[in-house]
Amino acid sequence: MEKKEYQLGDIVQMKKPHPCGTNEMEIIRMGMDIRIKCVGCKHSVLVPRAKFESKLKKVLRSNPDMKEDNSV
Ligand SMILES: [Zn+2]
Repeated sequence: MEKKEYQLGDIVQMKKPHPCGTNEMEIIRMGMDIRIKCVGCKHSVLVPRAKFESKLKKVLRSNPDMKEDNSV
């Protein structure tokens, strides 16, 4: 099974689009639960990590501002 990688600030696509019609969510908090915010209507929801992973379709893009600079 493919391991999905995501981090704070990533824009992710869920299996089901948000009721507002947008299917892009931003990860705004990570912990035991993950808080995601709809890019379209700015509505945020808190979901348990396991539920989030089961509903996650794919990571669309990472937030460059959140990335650590690993270049040497
Ligand atoms: Zn929405």
